[in-house]
Amino acid sequence: MKKYANSSTTREKHPWPDIHGRYGRYGGQYVPETLMYALGELETAYGDAANDAAFQEQLADYQHHYVGRPTPLYHAQRITEHLGGAQVYFKREDLAHTGAHKINNALGQCLLAKRMGKPRVIAETGAGQHGVATATAAALLGLDCEVYMGAEDMDRQRLNVFRMRLMGAKVVAVDAGSRTLKDAINEALRDWAANVEHTHYVLGTVHGPHPFPMICRDFQAVIGRETRAQLTEAVGRLPNMMIACVGGGSNAIGLFFDFLGDDSVTMVGVEAGGIEMAPGMHAARFAGGSLGMLQGAVSYVLQDENGLIGNTHSVSAGLDYASVGPEHAHCFDTKRIEYTSASDEEALEAFQLCSRLEGIIPALESAHAIAEVIKRAPGMAANDIIVMNMSGRGDKDVQHAARFIAPEEDV
Ligand SMILES: *Cc1c(COP(=O)(O)O)cnc(C)c1O
Repeated sequence: MKKYANSSTTREKHPWPDIHGRYGRYGGQYVPETLMYALGELETAYGDAANDAAFQEQLADYQHHYVGRPTPLYHAQRITEHLGGAQVYFKREDLAHTGAHKINNALGQCLLAKRMGKPRVIAETGAGQHGVATATAAALLGLDCEVYMGAEDMDRQRLNVFRMRLMGAKVVAVDAGSRTLKDAINEALRDWAANVEHTHYVLGTVHGPHPFPMICRDFQAVIGRETRAQLTEAVGRLPNMMIACVGGGSNAIGLFFDFLGDDSVTMVGVEAGGIEMAPGMHAARFAGGSLGMLQGAVSYVLQDENGLIGNTHSVSAGLDYASVGPEHAHCFDTKRIEYTSASDEEALEAFQLCSRLEGIIPALESAHAIAEVIKRAPGMAANDIIVMNMSGRGDKDVQHAARFIAPEEDV
């Protein structure tokens, strides 16, 4: 097996991160000195694991028997017919255990923690999805688990708090700052610095200081590798276009990574356009952000002219964050990946269309990607192929969505 088992052309054309943990001018390790030791230890341990066939086999075994991989690549015929253009395929991460792609990273990192001899894992969570994925993997592997969550978020996401506790995790309320995700991340980093001898920090997306963006990407890249094999078997060629929503960016880079070296494949990342493109009303970092540093890495950040982190809004909690992974920032600069946004309204429309035509209720995050499929497919040829990442299922969102939409009543 190759070192990371990804397409060698990607490694040739996109050799990131470099030895400083950078993607072009993005990424890096902007952390207090006390954390540098922990990051170095993690990088070494991960490098060993990535090259260890036994570790990769163990991971593949859990991915298959526990997570349910490979997830299907599904030809969405009714949506295809309805839009009248390109053939639309969904990569069904919504069918992975716990209902989203986040388990790929949580499982990989918890196995890594075990291998490093660390009996305790911590995680940050906003909407609770990454907390649930980490609590799940920790239960599976018999690790102690503590999840930091903003007090405000705990209030909004009671069901996920209950889920985590049910699986034996301790959920710690963070009362600092805005009492949301970014405060929870700060608290988790603090805990990690103090307890690094026996604790691993399971960071939930392709952000934070190196090596986290690389580790999370590598564990998510299974999505794209499977897609390549599945599409080759189904139609014998590569897709024309791939579309995924971008919060921190892990499901998007997970699908795209294996194809970055395939120049014929157009890639589109979809951010949260929220209510409108005014400060505080969206989370479209590439449209409204600028070069900045947040939580240990340089990237695009929504901030005011004094560098104060901007407020964000999105109907979907998973896309509602002021910064984006450094690898995406680099791919934005090089134009290898196009970035656009979908508004709350467009996402809610897509949410309903997909439910009605395909019998698949998507996560509101994924609905942003579907909104882009709706814009692109009609202008493409009938033998063109779009692969969209269905990053998660929408059961978690139906109550929230019900506040905004009224499905047609029975007549
Ligand atoms: C968390 C989440 C996202 C956003 O995170 P990324 O790191 O950008 O993938 C997208 N979709 C779902 C279903 C999520 O739970």
